[in-house]
Amino acid sequence: MDDPQAKHDPAAVAENVGRTVRARTVDALTARRDAGALAGAAATAMRIAEEAFAELQEDSAVRQAVAGLDCRKYCAHCCYKTVSATPAEVFHLADYVKATLRPRALAKLKARLRDLDEKTRGMSPLERGQARLPCALLVGRLCIAHAARPSSCRGFNSRDVGACEQSVKQRNVAIPVYMPQYRIFSEAHLGLRQGLSDLGLNSTHLELTAALRIALETPDAAERWLAGEPVFRAAEQP
Ligand code: SF4
Repeated sequence: MDDPQAKHDPAAVAENVGRTVRARTVDALTARRDAGALAGAAATAMRIAEEAFAELQEDSAVRQAVAGLDCRKYCAHCCYKTVSATPAEVFHLADYVKATLRPRALAKLKARLRDLDEKTRGMSPLERGQARLPCALLVGRLCIAHAARPSSCRGFNSRDVGACEQSVKQRNVAIPVYMPQYRIFSEAHLGLRQGLSDLGLNSTHLELTAALRIALETPDAAERWLAGEPVFRAAEQP
């Protein structure tokens, strides 16, 4: 960012993340349009957003606000909700679990995804929250794909763990999130979608459980999606 003032302006930082992710996604997939580049575009987008958020925390007011957030290891109240992801993020996540899980753990994950997808398919976000079913990637209150989790999970944060707990038990409980973090990762998500759309690729929101199940169960899913096949139709969100 050229303007030094803008470096610590949360709105300007978030907008810059969106623009940068969009441009980098287009560049990466123009240079090489294959499964590796697609997953790599999501990994790059997450790195750009994480670095921007880290840089924003050089400001003491931001650092103080982040230190006051209630999000902690082993706290997983937010992992019971609908998660949206871009196709690039889903393929990045699929590559990550295939590379890091042993065959038995991968088979168990596929079984959990199948089971959860069958229970939650077609549910609205409100119904999904009320169902109180954990994400298939949540094991022992930890995300087994934390390093490759999508932007919606990275941006979600809370200033009140009590509200998070209540939101799993009741409906219509608002979670007070820290907006600068939320905006940066929302812009990363949007930048990825816009970059894919600039290239004529389908950039519809996907529901994570159904989409990851498809990515792991469909042979050559990424290549087929890049060729224009509607492989994620069953996971598309309105
Ligand atoms: S992907 Fe990970 S962080 Fe996101 S909802 Fe699932 S378990 Fe939670």
